[in-house]
Amino acid sequence: MDKNVIFSDDKNYIAPTYARFKVAFERGEGSRLYDTDGKEYIDFATGIGVNIFGVCDREWKDAVTAQLNEIQHTSNLYYSLPQAKLAKLLCGKTGAGKVFFGNSGAEANECAIKAARKYGNTRYGRNEIITLKNSFHGRTLATLSATGQDSFHKYFDPFLGGFAYADPCMEGILKCYTDKTCAVMVECIQGESGVNVLDGQFLKELEEFCRERDILLICDEVQCGNGRTGKMYSYEHFGIRPDIVTTAKGLGGGLPIGACMLFGKCADVFGCGDHGSTFGGNPVACAGAVSIVERLTEELFLEVQGKGAYLKANLSRIANVRKVTGLGLMIGIETDKPAREVAQACLDKGLIVLTAHDRVRLLPPLNISKDEMEQALIILSEVIGK
Ligand SMILES: *Cc1c(COP(=O)(O)O)cnc(C)c1O
Repeated sequence: MDKNVIFSDDKNYIAPTYARFKVAFERGEGSRLYDTDGKEYIDFATGIGVNIFGVCDREWKDAVTAQLNEIQHTSNLYYSLPQAKLAKLLCGKTGAGKVFFGNSGAEANECAIKAARKYGNTRYGRNEIITLKNSFHGRTLATLSATGQDSFHKYFDPFLGGFAYADPCMEGILKCYTDKTCAVMVECIQGESGVNVLDGQFLKELEEFCRERDILLICDEVQCGNGRTGKMYSYEHFGIRPDIVTTAKGLGGGLPIGACMLFGKCADVFGCGDHGSTFGGNPVACAGAVSIVERLTEELFLEVQGKGAYLKANLSRIANVRKVTGLGLMIGIETDKPAREVAQACLDKGLIVLTAHDRVRLLPPLNISKDEMEQALIILSEVIGK
């Protein structure tokens, strides 16, 4: 396929909401992608943290095709084996009591917002949610309202009420706290705003603050979850126990799925008719997700931690790198150079990286090889180091 036809059809027929790089990827294998000219790339983006075991991963593809050959969709009016299996796996790995499946991160967060409001409204008449400045929770109107970045709050008003945006410290939380506060929602590692790891002491204090007042603690693990940081979910690094955990991106290994996990006292917050989704928990997506979650083991997490440490140590040595942030294989690089230019120059040299605000962001496959990490480091040092 001629890429110029794709570019012009895209320009003519697709709403221009994305600042696309001028590449169309056609196929791939593991951590290697190939564009329409047959040029090879090493993938340090995995979509945006989606293809967590790379492209066309054998086990995932087998699980997905086996399910496709059985049945591609059943509505949620009937029971579903892949959905039940995935829910049981997730609850087993996290200690969650119940799961609701949607199709995306935003939907998982919508579900969390509804769960928190129902919990607060029915018990105490509380319905306000505190989120953090520089957070990102999605693109639907409710999750945009939850997102603590002014740049997202243009054009689309009126936004949903009932959200307050706190600085990521206890003083910030206290400024937003009222007798209507029903939940606090955080990303332990803020992905879109530059891979910012929240302060561990703050998270511990926040957990205690919430527990004492029966305020729900919601962790948005859409990006930092599913083994990405070297733990099943990133909150585990901080020794906190959230009441609600949302996830998506890597969970489906490439197919759309989102999950909202409800723990302990809010496990049974939803009753019949409270929430629903036509596509949520699609059998094909769930079968793929089962093949992913089954491989998220302690052994893999140690590997991810080791690879992350290796990348961070080597990235810090590159000239012009000011700071390297993140945990495991979720890494932010602060440099003197504009992130978008770094990403474009890397792409020209056959390395796919992401940006997040003014930082370069790396989200490679969890099974990335030593050899591929070395090649990526060479390209990054060529691009950033001079
Ligand atoms: C990507 C992301 C979302 C939104 O997920 P979608 O699948 O794009 O709706 C929400 N929260 C965080 C932390 C994310 O990184």
